[in-house]
Amino acid sequence: MAVLWLDDVNAGDIDLVGGKAASLGELTGAGLPVPPGFTVTAETYRTFIEEAGIDEELFAAVDVDPEDSAALRAAEERAADLILGTDIPDAVREEIIESYRQLGPDGEEAFVAVRSSATAEDLPDASFAGQQETYLNVREEHLLERVKECWASLFTQRAIYYRQQQGFPHEDVDIAVVVQRMVDAEKSGVMFTSHPSTGDPQIIIEAAWGLGEAVVSGSVSPDNYVYDRAKGAVADVTVADKKTLMEKDSETGETVEREVAEDRRNERVLSDAEIESLVELGERVEDHYGEPQDVEWAIVDGEVFMLQSRPITTIAESASDAETDTTDGDDGSDGGATSSGGGGGTDDENEDVLVQGLGSSPGVVSGAVRIVTKLDHLDQVQEGDILVTEMTMPDMVPAMKRAAGIVTDEGGMTSHAAIVSRELGVPAVVGTRTGTKQLENGRQITIDGDKGTVRAGADSEAEPAEEFEPVEAARPQTPVKPMTATEVKVNVSIPEAAERAAATGADGVGLLRIEHMVLTLGKTPERYIAEHGARAYQDELIEGIRTVADEFYPRPVRVRTIDAPTDEFRDLEGGDDEPAEHNPMLGWRGIRRSLDKPDVFQQELAAFDRIYEMGYDNVELMLPLVNDSDDIEGAKRQMREAGIDPEERRWGVMIETPAAALQIEDLASAGIDFASFGTNDLTQYTLAVDRNNENVADRFDETHPAVLELIGQTIETCRELGVDTSICGQAGSKTEMVNFLVEEGISSISANIDAVRDVQHEVKRKEQRILLDSVR
Ligand code: PEP
Ligand code: MG
Repeated sequence: MAVLWLDDVNAGDIDLVGGKAASLGELTGAGLPVPPGFTVTAETYRTFIEEAGIDEELFAAVDVDPEDSAALRAAEERAADLILGTDIPDAVREEIIESYRQLGPDGEEAFVAVRSSATAEDLPDASFAGQQETYLNVREEHLLERVKECWASLFTQRAIYYRQQQGFPHEDVDIAVVVQRMVDAEKSGVMFTSHPSTGDPQIIIEAAWGLGEAVVSGSVSPDNYVYDRAKGAVADVTVADKKTLMEKDSETGETVEREVAEDRRNERVLSDAEIESLVELGERVEDHYGEPQDVEWAIVDGEVFMLQSRPITTIAESASDAETDTTDGDDGSDGGATSSGGGGGTDDENEDVLVQGLGSSPGVVSGAVRIVTKLDHLDQVQEGDILVTEMTMPDMVPAMKRAAGIVTDEGGMTSHAAIVSRELGVPAVVGTRTGTKQLENGRQITIDGDKGTVRAGADSEAEPAEEFEPVEAARPQTPVKPMTATEVKVNVSIPEAAERAAATGADGVGLLRIEHMVLTLGKTPERYIAEHGARAYQDELIEGIRTVADEFYPRPVRVRTIDAPTDEFRDLEGGDDEPAEHNPMLGWRGIRRSLDKPDVFQQELAAFDRIYEMGYDNVELMLPLVNDSDDIEGAKRQMREAGIDPEERRWGVMIETPAAALQIEDLASAGIDFASFGTNDLTQYTLAVDRNNENVADRFDETHPAVLELIGQTIETCRELGVDTSICGQAGSKTEMVNFLVEEGISSISANIDAVRDVQHEVKRKEQRILLDSVR
């Protein structure tokens, strides 16, 4: 039998029908209202390639060097040619079509969803393996073609790359395909059958008009309903402004995004009776599985359907754990810069404070001091040590990962040490001035990355040292992702942090700094290219960018072209050729260097071009430290020369100088899609306060009225000109700045990994306050 009906499969049939179909079968068997459907089994796929005799050629074609992007592209094409170009045997075709015809209501032709259903559950991340193709509103005419396309989705470039890298044999992965009647949803959404963080008996429902894709993909802010299971009543209703919906176009059958009619935008989606029906279903599913579930549902003609159900994985060990985590997060993301002051006084009564600095990455840890003054000392940093150094450098990242904590003499909240330690989840205190002099090697100390203190002795309350904070720690501990009209994204500087960054549920990456990838090579770009060739340099960039772009796909990832001051290049091999600059922060960095060094810039842009060619349409290009349209026109010429069409791609600029903010109309006329505030630099250049100088750290104030005025005016002009605005400086993680930016109408905010969830909540609170004010 080529197909199996959902009625006939259950959770134990993953090998046969893949995870998705097995779960739908289980729900159907439990009597829950799942739209009818069947699965083209994994065995059918296997028989198809074996009987047609294409299996060996197929597996040989995709056994390529994953770092060779031309070979990857050719492998994907060859695999698709083989699968799509081979006929499905007659008996199988007939069985699929015959089954499909039974799905039509009263003999009508059905619209079905065709989805791949992975059997490789033992792969660390099956979503990478490419088995996630979904085709909506398919009819008989295209059904068999879509089934084959699902099969071919096993061999996209991303899937091949991932399996080759993981050493996972291609021949061990099979794929099933689910064919299921579409529900033409009038309303749809998700439901958590218990509080997703505390496990409390509350059911949380998010609902929007039209098809569920809008809610699941986050493209619309849904209504939020909280149902108290103990009291058996609706406890809270938040009605969102639902600007868009997804629906089936009645002519073409395609899913399209439409504007919601004015009078329905702020109308409540679910009635109390509908909430009751959903709650009843939710409780049945939870009972069936014996654990809280995350359910996708849809309503059509008053009838409720369940489209999918998964266990909730975010419930904390205990409610009190969740409480503590949330409070710590608040302190960590906001308080550090302001409450600790630049190496000044402390409000910590503890007498054994040895040195004091800025708490730049939250957490309290104890460990032995390991002072690093030269790079060749790095090997001495053992797991669990506290790395103490003047200032961290990119080559220190492996040692920073091993360390339990980090202390630096120099630097402020936006220094390399602060940014990287936050991304690694390693507690850090920066700008202590005298840490390397006052602390002795081997001494036990406790550092507090919130308060900015370094104390003598080990603290029994300190967290046990962990090597590189686990991904779980980055997962939100608070309830359902707050849906916000203002997008909330995340900043990434080291590709190693990509998984943690994606686990936050952010809407994309607002800034991926590529200089850290380059500096980690240990050689200046010029030296690296001279010794290893331009192609190898591109490959390094591609690998780093792709790690992040994969993790977030299809969410957008803004990748910034290189921006490092000459003093950061100086310590690398080839650094002797760097010009000696009095003030590197005002010197040869960002777009200035790129335009002056087109030979190197061309290689960076070639890496972007290759990434686009690989199909990463979620990558956006961002230019740093521009001042005016001349900078942009120069960059556009270079883009074109590298084969990138600025009209076709989404790209934009950082607003990091007062000049850029004041010249925003000029910049907009050069065709930018977005402008992103780099407040680390914008503040330093507006206030003339060196961001890396601990002596003036207490004067570094991103919320200074002058900085806010530049930002406010820029947002206003951009809104008039239809240019998106964003922030990707450190200040985007601060409550005060978030409130200001939402009020001004910014399009998105990009925060640090540890601050994303708090920022989502703050944005939502502010948006609701604005709405309330407008109707009162
Ligand atoms: C900024 O200047 O705010 C910014 C995000 O860029 P960087 O910190 O890399 O200079
Ligand atoms: Mg900057």
